[in-house]
Amino acid sequence: MPCTFIRLAGCPLRCVYCDTTQAIPTDSGQWMNMDAIICEVKQRNRPLVLVTGGEPLAQKQCITLLKELDQLDCIVQLETSGAYLIDQVPESVHRIVDIKTPGSLEVERNRLENLELLSANDELKFVLTSRDDYEWAKQFIDHNKLENNKATLLMSPAFGSVQASDLCAWILEDELPVRMQMQLHKVIWDADATGV
Ligand code: SF4
Repeated sequence: MPCTFIRLAGCPLRCVYCDTTQAIPTDSGQWMNMDAIICEVKQRNRPLVLVTGGEPLAQKQCITLLKELDQLDCIVQLETSGAYLIDQVPESVHRIVDIKTPGSLEVERNRLENLELLSANDELKFVLTSRDDYEWAKQFIDHNKLENNKATLLMSPAFGSVQASDLCAWILEDELPVRMQMQLHKVIWDADATGV
């Protein structure tokens, strides 16, 4: 779906597979005030707006931004690392929350309290760097009973680490109730392309 991306600068994590390292420094990108952001979103007039990063919730004004976007006539999504609580994010915003796996080297950052805050409107995403990560994610889903009454479960192969066809085979073999998600921008454009 055509989407306006709002990429907020700064992230305290250092996932091994990060594909937006350019957004990690807090002084990357350009300064924009709230009115300018809302004005540009309105001008672009796309049906979907995604607030991402970096780690968007690391910026104090992110919640205010989400509330402002929520007033517009479009679907609003938030992508977050799962290292921050989502309790202040409006429930009408589609929250896409990562669960960091051991292979990310940031597994200790997971705020597991978020699991209780998720609704059917949200998505919980595992980016997998190996078969070990897949097995870990499978156990995590089982242990936390995530299959039935929580957010949509996503599994995504870390680019260059797990073959998409392998992940497909594992999911089908185990009959997991998850969706496989690809980093489409790497498939459509060059894997290192930015701003697409
Ligand atoms: S949380 Fe996201 S932006 Fe931050 S290091 Fe990990 S992948 Fe990169």
